Amino acid sequence: MTKPDYTDKIISLAKRRGFVFQSSEIYGGLNGCYDYGPLGVELLNNVKNIWWKDMTYREDIEGIDTSILMHPRVWEASGHVENFTDPMVDCKECKARFRADILDELECGNKAYKGRKAIKCQQEGKFTEARNFNLMFKSFIGPVEDSSAVVYLRPETAQGIYVNFQNVRETSRQKIPFGIAQSGKAFRNEINTKNFLYRTREFEQMEMQYFINPPEDNKWFEYWKEERINWFLKYGLKKEKIRIYTHEKLAHYAKAAIDIEYEFPFGWGEIEGIHNRTDFDLKRHSEYSGKKIEYFDDLTNERYIPYVIETSAGASRSFLAFLTNAYEEEEVTRENLDGSKAMEKRTVLHFHPSLAPIKAAVFPLVNRDGMPEIAHIIANDLRKNFRVFYDDSGAVGRRYRRQDECGTPFCVTVDSDTLKDGTVTIRDRDSLEQIRINKDRISDYLITKINI
Ligand code: ATP
Repeated sequence: MTKPDYTDKIISLAKRRGFVFQSSEIYGGLNGCYDYGPLGVELLNNVKNIWWKDMTYREDIEGIDTSILMHPRVWEASGHVENFTDPMVDCKECKARFRADILDELECGNKAYKGRKAIKCQQEGKFTEARNFNLMFKSFIGPVEDSSAVVYLRPETAQGIYVNFQNVRETSRQKIPFGIAQSGKAFRNEINTKNFLYRTREFEQMEMQYFINPPEDNKWFEYWKEERINWFLKYGLKKEKIRIYTHEKLAHYAKAAIDIEYEFPFGWGEIEGIHNRTDFDLKRHSEYSGKKIEYFDDLTNERYIPYVIETSAGASRSFLAFLTNAYEEEEVTRENLDGSKAMEKRTVLHFHPSLAPIKAAVFPLVNRDGMPEIAHIIANDLRKNFRVFYDDSGAVGRRYRRQDECGTPFCVTVDSDTLKDGTVTIRDRDSLEQIRINKDRISDYLITKINI
């Protein structure tokens, strides 16, 4: 059964709970730019941290953090100045502007034809001829705005890695095969932004470039394809919601390319690309900079320019995939204080514990008899390891519902038994089971469950 389109509900929850706000909202917003609120920044950091840990806490991969502004020749060498374009058309009638290769996904700009696809307007001859539009944001370095001062906001993080290939290899003493990973901001002046965080003008990428001996390219391409699909599965993306799309038409630098796609409520969309970029980038940087970039294998006495297998994920798109994937509206059985049961609807985010923005909430059952004091001590103790939320307002049932919407995996309640025997209840967000454990054991219990 296909899931109902929860896009609007997810956007509304994201705002209500402080995950994502529109950029510059009080001024009417800036198209294609978003701000991550208190819960959003935790989730985004968790996405980037698990990626960083899984990709760089291994023998064969080093990390790097390169600057967003780079020498303009970098983008000439990489082919971005010449080729990083999308075809653009204008509607002669309503003056709206469209990316010409995705007209079947876009809506016509004329409010009078609400819901009509832009492809129909094209078929009726309303559009101009397509012309190429370069997606790089251009600026100037220093006070003089002339052509010698042009700089670009990087449209991908990969080039910062290529130009540092020799620096990293020499300082880390890595031998091929090895990789360099980086996550950070990228900017693309997209003609049409759409679907919330899916296509924005400012976003974050998590990229890794794996340098290999050219005859081994197929082997490593397959290896990274498997690794990266398994990564998304490990953190809870549903298997049936992931598929591989194999590109037939390849970018100017690629020998092979696949996309890992996720089925968003608005349709299938790429969350990560795996590319065999051959020796294109290193060769071009060598040519454009005049510096030799090559690798000498002292075992075989071979000298060659390595091939690169790239894994290129969007942190913001992965954020959206994990958020969408976690969202459920469910009916659950609630147990009342008198032991009776009632059915109740809840909205819940079933995040993997490593991704959950808040790992535990702590509640005093009532605001008296010393319960708040004990609950504060527990919360402060847990804060040494996790992000914890303390909540003492409203019925406990309502406090659970609030945490369900935030995706908090565990709620700890201090009640009258705590005063007698030092035990608390821990309620599991997904199974709704409650266990009682001694308050001194909460931290160990959560560390095992959250697996940080
Ligand atoms: P698309 O075809 O959707 O424009 P792309 O093929 O140009 O994407 P890549 O250049 O392979 O994308 O970029 C790698 C990753 O960066 C993508 O898988 C995606 O997760 C992310 N990404 C690219 N463009 C955007 C964007 N405008 N907004 C958010 N994330 C993006």
